[in-house]
Amino acid sequence: MKKYWTPLAWVGNRWIKNVLLTVDSTGRLHQVLGDQLCGGAHPLEGPVIPGMPNVHSHAFQWTFAGLSEFRTRQRDSFWSWREQMYRSVEQLTPEEYYHRACKLYRMMLAAGYTEVGEFHYIHNEPDGTRYPQLERLADQLVQAAVDTGIAICMLPVLYQRGGFDGRPLEGAQKRFELSFDELLSLSHRLQDKWGDQPLFQLGVAFHSLRAVDPKTIGPSVEAARAITGPCGPVHIHVAEQAGEVDQCQSQFGKRPVELLLDLADVDAGWCLIHATHMSEHEICRLAEIDAVVGLCPTTEANLGDGVFPAAEFLSAGGRIAMGSDSHVGLDPFAELRLVEYGQRLTTHRRAVLCDNDHSCGERLFRDALAGGAQAVGRSRVNGLEVGAPANWVVLDPDHATLSDCPAERIMDRLIFCQWGNAVLKTFVHGDLVFERHPLQGSS
Ligand SMILES: [Zn+2]
Repeated sequence: MKKYWTPLAWVGNRWIKNVLLTVDSTGRLHQVLGDQLCGGAHPLEGPVIPGMPNVHSHAFQWTFAGLSEFRTRQRDSFWSWREQMYRSVEQLTPEEYYHRACKLYRMMLAAGYTEVGEFHYIHNEPDGTRYPQLERLADQLVQAAVDTGIAICMLPVLYQRGGFDGRPLEGAQKRFELSFDELLSLSHRLQDKWGDQPLFQLGVAFHSLRAVDPKTIGPSVEAARAITGPCGPVHIHVAEQAGEVDQCQSQFGKRPVELLLDLADVDAGWCLIHATHMSEHEICRLAEIDAVVGLCPTTEANLGDGVFPAAEFLSAGGRIAMGSDSHVGLDPFAELRLVEYGQRLTTHRRAVLCDNDHSCGERLFRDALAGGAQAVGRSRVNGLEVGAPANWVVLDPDHATLSDCPAERIMDRLIFCQWGNAVLKTFVHGDLVFERHPLQGSS
């Protein structure tokens, strides 16, 4: 057993003093006790908060972040960005994919993320030729996660077609093509190879309702869960763009979220990425079930997607989790800030997303932590709780964020004050996996 002690920790959605954290040999929390003396435990320097799951990542996109901030036509959009993004991966080799992922995952650990949901859809060589091993590129990502120490929920993506009308994939999209049978074969191979690795969790994903035949979703989930387990994570991009909603309506007579809920048994294992454009009826239906919406606010802002209706969705009982998606932002606190600011900017109010128990920052952190754990396959435990993975972040006690700040306002300081990174150390499964070098300064 490893034992750690901290003067202050966020436990059970509140701050507790003098906390002893005991980690068992599997990397899970065995005991979490307040009002304890340090004794022989390893002392941690500052306040401890749970690590935030990053539920939506495309590792290949991060080196492209910031390289498309210019005009390519009269009116640029998500769709023109997508063409540039496709071109950015034409030359990507497996070796480069591994190195890119390693750098990205180290940056995530430094930012306070401890788990990554990798929505993996580059499966083939650039012209669509299959690699001799279907898992060639997926393996690079899992290996990068294991080598950097971040936990990974690997989500191999079904990608069958080029649009709602069923057009075939062409050009750069051939790199993403994966059939139903190939998805199952890839899932089997990944589970066989990595299933014993404690940092690894397998799920399944559908690129979008644009890119898969809706009729294949139900059978795919059933077959995938025979491999991942009955509650295995299922992710999908849905309703990110207004144009996508229009196309879906003209093809199927239904909006995307409505279509998905009618087609599939969407349960607590599901994470709907973006879900930005929903009618009131869709918001109520989605909030009523146990599925999570994966929000990626900095990417959604960067791509001009729209503002997720967070106030309506959360007040109806909806669940959220956070992702960094294209990685223009790599900061869980900035993502949470933007969820609240989107509401303030559109409603002209302040403190929109707080509730009776918690301030805005505390409520957002609480909800994203629970939703995040659920979206990466841990529906029962989250945060610094017995049985949960021992994933946490130590905050720098000398950082401006903590200066003259009462404990009950630390979460709001972290989320609403943009004073630089306050993360000093990051632990995953009880192991130190990131430590800020003293020369990097405290703010
Ligand atoms: Zn995405």
